[in-house]
Amino acid sequence: QLRLRSALALVTGAGSGIGRAVSVRLAREGATVAACDLDRAAACETVWLLGGQGSEEVAPGGTHAAFQADVSEAGSVRRLLEQVQACFSRPPSVVVSCAGITRDEVLLRMSEDDWDKVIAVNLKGIFLVTQAAAQALVSSGCHGSIINISSIVGKVGNMGQTNYAASKAGVIGLTQTAARELGRHGIRCNSVLPGFITTPMTQKVPQKVLDKVIGIIPMGHMGDPEDVADVVAFLASEDSGYITGASVEVTGGLFM
Ligand code: NAD
Repeated sequence: QLRLRSALALVTGAGSGIGRAVSVRLAREGATVAACDLDRAAACETVWLLGGQGSEEVAPGGTHAAFQADVSEAGSVRRLLEQVQACFSRPPSVVVSCAGITRDEVLLRMSEDDWDKVIAVNLKGIFLVTQAAAQALVSSGCHGSIINISSIVGKVGNMGQTNYAASKAGVIGLTQTAARELGRHGIRCNSVLPGFITTPMTQKVPQKVLDKVIGIIPMGHMGDPEDVADVVAFLASEDSGYITGASVEVTGGLFM
């Protein structure tokens, strides 16, 4: 069953890991995907995987398309929404913010720059994308589903990640507030809190640390990006039509 047959889905961070898996999953459910990444080539590669155009020039008939944008820059996000709407003649009805970075250091040594960069991409970036997408939906009278990727770290903290944990906790509050404000417009907003998922982001974590984490995951292994994509597809679809303001954990049972 194609649950997202008429949906246009904008996915940020679509060039890698969870964002790429989400793009593939939503396309399989019938959505047209606007795949955005800071890395243009990576976004194009995702679209190529989906069998789309791989560039911003989209053929009539609405195949998938790639877009380059920096979610931490207001001008870049504004242009992104304009380009997507120009391309497909409508605003995205599903918006999944997966773009995110880490700059790990213990609190006692963390630089101001490491703090600012992570907050700018992970928190301000989600504010800018959520706001721009909601404005486009409200002004055209369309309903939608906004899904923001937070992290279990935003709930329980993690050594060496004061910046990342703060950004991800912020995403939960931002999404809950957006859900309260936008519900009357038919726009649902939910956050997804992955645990430890095998992607390029966690490939940077020393194996010793990963082994320790795996030891306390009830499911006994790390998650795959597809595990997160499955939940995103549910939240994007009408199967979750009465769910808004939720923070859904995808952790294999870590930190119940
Ligand atoms: P990843 O590094 O594989 O992918 C992140 C993507 O975001 C990259 O393609 C990168 O180019 C893009 N990106 C970075 N900065 C950007 C910017 N300013 N504008 C646009 N795109 C930008 O990481 P991932 O593991 O797939 O993570 C995806 C999301 O899931 C992130 O928000 C991350 O914090 C979150 N998350 C990941 C895990 C995990 O274990 N991997 C756990 C919890 C939450």
